[in-house]
Amino acid sequence: MNGKGIHHVTAIAGPAQRNLDFYARILGLRLVKKTVNFDDPGTYHLYFGDEAGSPGSILTFFPWKHVAPGRTGLGEAQETVLRVPAGSIGYWLHRFVEKGVVHQPLVKRFGETLLPFKDPDGMRLALAAVPGIENETAWTGADIPAEAAIRGFHSVNLLLAEAAPTGAILTDVFGFAEIGREGSLVRYRVNGGGAGSIVDIHEAGGFLPARLGGGSVHHIAFRAADDAEEEAMVRKLAQNHGIRTTEQKDRNYFRSVYFREPGHVLFEIATDVPGFAVDEPKATLGETLKLPAFLETRRAALEVSLPPLDWAKPAILPST
Ligand code: ZN
Repeated sequence: MNGKGIHHVTAIAGPAQRNLDFYARILGLRLVKKTVNFDDPGTYHLYFGDEAGSPGSILTFFPWKHVAPGRTGLGEAQETVLRVPAGSIGYWLHRFVEKGVVHQPLVKRFGETLLPFKDPDGMRLALAAVPGIENETAWTGADIPAEAAIRGFHSVNLLLAEAAPTGAILTDVFGFAEIGREGSLVRYRVNGGGAGSIVDIHEAGGFLPARLGGGSVHHIAFRAADDAEEEAMVRKLAQNHGIRTTEQKDRNYFRSVYFREPGHVLFEIATDVPGFAVDEPKATLGETLKLPAFLETRRAALEVSLPPLDWAKPAILPST
């Protein structure tokens, strides 16, 4: 099995404009797709990523204006970590102070330096200072210099009662290997490294189950090259782990199946194909509302009911 790591992470946010301001303007990610939640078309689905929206860089949100805040707990991703070039962590610390981003002092984990911070919905994120990635391509559409721009995911950190059952899925189905332990953390990585190649499991009892809401990760998607690889993963889940996935769903930009892993986190398997340039040119990704064919007949009504997203507005600072 040639697992390649994290495809995307999807989270729940508050107002769409605030979400766009934070991720596109403050973190400098590219809005690579403006569409709706295919299962709930009255809600936006905003995709942020690198220039092309490459698998391993895609952070997506369902923004709901009046969402109740989530509660961190067992059975969820408690932290989503993004990669930045090692030399840029001082730039980011300064930027967070200047922009009023809620953040914590630098921490060390598995020998790496991390800058933990929160988005305006209280979602827990961190930047990991990674050496040797300065020359990876970066999206520089925001006011962030190329040498500091975010280079996709570093890792997700799952808070689980037990590491082993979930670890078995990561290693057997998605091609990860356990590469280290530190305190209550177990680190898994896919061969070859790169964006989205790490999952950390924080094994800790005594927490209440997580409650989904604003600032919560809704699900984590892992990469399959194509339908055949996805199918092979589905078979392995059934045969070796007794887990059944949903039927395959066409998400326009990838094709997906979903399942609840043994630690209760919602996992998805998403194909690398066809990608975000399937319905608009790469040069103008994210600029207009894109809808799947089955929703085009409702475009006029949806355009009226969805809140307008304004690029001209100044960045709104996170509430404290
Ligand atoms: Zn997804």
